[in-house]
Amino acid sequence: MMNILTFDIEEWYIEKVYHGSRAEKYREFDEYLNRILSLLEQQGIKATFFCVGRLATDFPEVVKLIASKGHEVGCHSNVHQWLNKMSPDEALEDTRVAVDSLEQCIGQKVKSYRAPAFSIGENNKWAFEVLVRCGIERDASVFPAVRDFGGFPQFREQTPTLVSYEGNTIKEFPIPTLKLIGKDLAYSGGGYFRFFPLGLIKRTMGKNSYNMCYFHIGDLLSGPQRVMTKKEYEEYFHELGSLLNRYKRYVKSSLGRRDTFKKMEKVISSNLFINLMDADKEIDWNQAPKITL
Ligand SMILES: [Zn+2]
Repeated sequence: MMNILTFDIEEWYIEKVYHGSRAEKYREFDEYLNRILSLLEQQGIKATFFCVGRLATDFPEVVKLIASKGHEVGCHSNVHQWLNKMSPDEALEDTRVAVDSLEQCIGQKVKSYRAPAFSIGENNKWAFEVLVRCGIERDASVFPAVRDFGGFPQFREQTPTLVSYEGNTIKEFPIPTLKLIGKDLAYSGGGYFRFFPLGLIKRTMGKNSYNMCYFHIGDLLSGPQRVMTKKEYEEYFHELGSLLNRYKRYVKSSLGRRDTFKKMEKVISSNLFINLMDADKEIDWNQAPKITL
C-alpha cells in the first residue's frame, strides 16, 4: 500500500502575471499554504510540492518555507507553460532555468517533476529525455486518461513504472484512475477530487495499492470565483475565450469548491502518505513494470 501526497504550487506567480498582484490574493494563498503546512505537521507527513521556477525568483520565501518544513520541493516548469505547447529546445531551456532557480533557492537538488496540466503525452514523449537531461529522476506528469489540456490515454500502467525513451530512463509515478461508466477517470486530485463524494474517493483509495493525491491551492480556495475575461482565458489556456468556453471552465473550477479543504483534511488524516522521494526509496524497481516508448 503506497499513498503519495503532492501539491502543485504556482498561484502567487499566476496572480502577479495575470491578475495584477492583488495583496488580498497573496494573503489568501499564504493563509492556505500555512493551513496545509500545519495539517501536514500535525499528521507527520512530508509531501512533495512541485513549484514553478519563477516562484523561486519572485517569491523565494514561499519555496523556502516549504523546504524548511522538510517537504520535498519538485519542479512544476518555469512559468506554468504546458510542455505540449513547446518545442523540445524550449522545454529544455524552460526546465533548466526552473530547476536551477529552485535549487539555488533551497540549496538542495531537485529531482522530481510534474508538468503543468499533465502536459506529457503521445505527441511529446521527447519530454522524458528533456527531464532526464535536466537531472530529473522522478516524474509525476502522466495522466493515463483523456483530459482537457493534456493526458496520456495510451499509457497503460497504473503503478510506478520505469519509462525509457531513446535510452533515457525515468521513474514514472502516474496518476491512478478508476473505471466509471466505461470511462477512465481520476479521483485523487484536482476537479475530480472536488466533484466525487468523499465516500467514493475513500473506498477507491482503500482498494488500490497505489494512490497519488494532487492539489493546487486554487482547488482548495473557498471564496467565490469569477468567470475569466476573454483576454485572461486566451493567455492562460491558449484557446478561444468564447463565452461558452469561459463558462465551462468556471463551472468546472467552481464544482464542490466550498468544502474541498475539509475533504482533503479528512483524506489526509485517515491515510498514511509519503512524498515521491521516499516512495522512490521504498519501491523495488527491479520488480516494477518497464515501458519503452
Ligand atoms: Zn499547476
